Amino acid sequence: MAVARGGHISLSSGKFAILGGGISGLAAAYHLLDKVKDPSNITVLESSDRVGGWMQSCAGENGAVFELGPRSVRAVGKAGKATLKIAHDLGLERSILSVPSSHPAARNRFIYSQGSLHQLPVGILSIIKKQSLFSKSLLPTILREPFVRGKQDNADETVYDFFKRRMSEEVAEYISDPLCRGIFAGDTRLLSLKSCFPPVYQYENQHGSIVKGVLFTKEAPDTSVQSPLVERAKNEHWTIWSLQGGMQTLPDKLHEVLKQRGVNFLMNTPCTAVNFKPDGKLTVSWPKDQITVDQVISGLPAQTLANILPKDCVELASELRNIQATTAGVVNLEYEGSVVPMEGFGYLVPSSEPLQVLGIIFDSCAFPENDRRGQKTTRITVMMGGHWFNSLFGHPDSVDPDHLQDIAIETAEKNARHSH
Ligand SMILES: Cc1cc2nc3c(=O)[nH]c(=O)nc-3n(C[C@H](O)[C@H](O)[C@H](O)COP(=O)(O)OP(=O)(O)OC[C@H]3O[C@@H](n4cnc5c(N)ncnc54)[C@H](O)[C@@H]3O)c2cc1C
Repeated sequence: MAVARGGHISLSSGKFAILGGGISGLAAAYHLLDKVKDPSNITVLESSDRVGGWMQSCAGENGAVFELGPRSVRAVGKAGKATLKIAHDLGLERSILSVPSSHPAARNRFIYSQGSLHQLPVGILSIIKKQSLFSKSLLPTILREPFVRGKQDNADETVYDFFKRRMSEEVAEYISDPLCRGIFAGDTRLLSLKSCFPPVYQYENQHGSIVKGVLFTKEAPDTSVQSPLVERAKNEHWTIWSLQGGMQTLPDKLHEVLKQRGVNFLMNTPCTAVNFKPDGKLTVSWPKDQITVDQVISGLPAQTLANILPKDCVELASELRNIQATTAGVVNLEYEGSVVPMEGFGYLVPSSEPLQVLGIIFDSCAFPENDRRGQKTTRITVMMGGHWFNSLFGHPDSVDPDHLQDIAIETAEKNARHSH
């Protein structure tokens, strides 16, 4: 989000403050490099002593890598291509670990239900044949969907209501519910379809149906992001990718390159206020000092930004405060040998199930290169809480990490014994 007021500001000669040294702030600084004459006019303020924000990897014994936040990035879509281009520009091509569409981690995604893991449908055959997750074949639901009346007013609705209305209650319960828990750590009965899945919302509005939308939406060839790595990803059908040594390699390398190019980094510097001056410039303050700039770009969480905006930005601050965040507990586990019940990306747990986890990711299946060297081990990650954190575990500040770890181990080990 960028903040500036009045008049035309020249990008090439203006001064910029970027708030937050997470991947958003670093990527913003990187894109600005092409536009400014002097990179020393860009200052990044980061409240902690490291860059990367949620993108944080930690090294275990003998080269094992554990991700505290994101573990993979999508290779497709505009954002996916833009990230691949940055990785290429930074010289990270040789460190890339890719997952092609034919790989089990791309094809096999499971849903936990009633003590078993059930594979999500992939391809036509799995739609025709009755799947263990559903009471009947999905084919009649799919064939009926184009004839379900669209909403008259194009109004937004919850993800759950949309899938229940257009498909079936089972699809809403066993697909949209766990997917929303896996992607947003959120509740499908509260999340907005328009905000969370904009293409699906458009399918109904433009084509009157998801099925027709998928069949008849012609993707305009997008040549806006070009890079040899984007081409390679396309030719080799990459779905997701990570990096040798973990995702943190990306912000670390960005930080190194930005510093080399002359961008200023103020670490341990929490921005406390942004204010407009009468001449339209902005002051950016932190406890000990302040700077004056022409534009501010924020890579901060919405609630944090709301608290530091100028006093007269009431409307914007209120919009930002309405964006809710949840707390996710992340437990990384490593086992000797090969312990996952089946090869795949991992499994998600619908909210109707009594398990206390959102899902478990089989990290070693997608990226065995980040396992420890030597004997075979398996890394998995247990995601917990999200929208349900406080009701399950209490306030995040007072939860005992050992309690989360115990639940994670118990759930992972119990379900490793189940397969379908
Ligand atoms: C557990 C988990 C797993 C995820 N998995 C994936 C995944 O596999 N794939 C994927 O694509 N996405 C994933 N995501 C989402 C992804 O991690 C985030 O979208 C992304 O990291 C957000 O980056 P950001 O820079 O916008 O914010 P953040 O990473 O939150 O960075 C914000 C930065 O601002 C700093 N800051 C805060 N307050 C101030 C202040 N007042 N002044 C200055 N600096 C401040 C913080 O220290 C931080 O460095 C996951 C998220 C979580 C939580």
